[in-house]
Amino acid sequence: MQSISKKLINKINGYLSDNPCILLLTHTNPDGDAVGSLLGLYHYFIRHGFKTYAITPNNFPSFLRWLPGADEIVRYSREKERAAVMIKEADVIFNLDFNDPERLGKMNELITASNAIKILIDHHPNPKKFNHIEISETSVSSTAELIYLLLTQLDIKPFLTREVAESLYTGIMTDTGCFSYNSSFGQTFRVTADLLESGIDKERIFDLVYNNFSEERMRLAGFALNKKMVVLKRYHTAYIWFTKKELEQFNHTLGDTEGFVNMPLSIHGIRFSALFIEKTDHVKISFRSKGSFPANLFAERHFHGGGHHNAAGGEYPATLDETLQRFEELLTDYEDQLSVP
Ligand code: 5GP
Ligand code: MN
Repeated sequence: MQSISKKLINKINGYLSDNPCILLLTHTNPDGDAVGSLLGLYHYFIRHGFKTYAITPNNFPSFLRWLPGADEIVRYSREKERAAVMIKEADVIFNLDFNDPERLGKMNELITASNAIKILIDHHPNPKKFNHIEISETSVSSTAELIYLLLTQLDIKPFLTREVAESLYTGIMTDTGCFSYNSSFGQTFRVTADLLESGIDKERIFDLVYNNFSEERMRLAGFALNKKMVVLKRYHTAYIWFTKKELEQFNHTLGDTEGFVNMPLSIHGIRFSALFIEKTDHVKISFRSKGSFPANLFAERHFHGGGHHNAAGGEYPATLDETLQRFEELLTDYEDQLSVP
């Protein structure tokens, strides 16, 4: 298995030997890898007696709330004062599954002002410099896989309890779309094999994450495919868009549109897909691509975003109509790039 540089490991072991108060953070709109990574480390540190806090900038979807320890996570958007006290108390902060402090949203200022030792563990390209220690590795499937590698190397053992394994498995499973992408290296499966051997029930975890939707969410998926998907064959692109009102009609709750952006990629010849969601003063966008088309560069250049080569996101401060028009106009500049498989 890949190893993290001995120098970085020694530094982290050194910080941990001072028995610090630990704060675990992840990005806004946390996904399975974000919450799985947060809780994987949370259970490891708690078990070994560290005072440990976990904060997410905002809430996370209900299909992640079954995870052991999910109730211990503080949502900054709901409990600002409590979170601020925790941030003040922290000696060491772990920034997980994001590499740009802007992804902390409104928490950014407090974290930037903190004098704690900051440690990044992430798998996105081009990290911004805001950490004392950077464990940034784009070849791994997920931040959860990288945390597994880190825990095998740290001095404090044992590390693989059922809670740690369930959390990290959920991170790997969701960030690879159940091992369909971001999982071309054997290591992902070696790590997964170790997690399975620790006694977790992978079918139960699949069921809790993917077979846990409301009836309305299933009907929203039908509506999306039937009425709200635009296919632009010339650009090998398809997109889905929702107004605020449409989502309200389907009693939309957080996480309901998770996975929708992947659906158009199942169409023969479609290599680029997008999901546009109308918010109060902007449009939130998800991008997915297949093959060579860099979704992250597209998001970064045109929609204040970023992410991975094939999975990225961003936002646009305009109306939904303006945003869709801009997107379609931009595609004309990318016709050649999109014609390459
Ligand atoms: P999703 O579309 O699932 O929300 O996000 C896909 C990927 O894009 C994730 O790796 C996520 O970190 C990244 N991403 C999503 N939204 C944003 C954004 O607004 N800014 C940046 N920099 N990355 C984003
Ligand atoms: Mn991730």
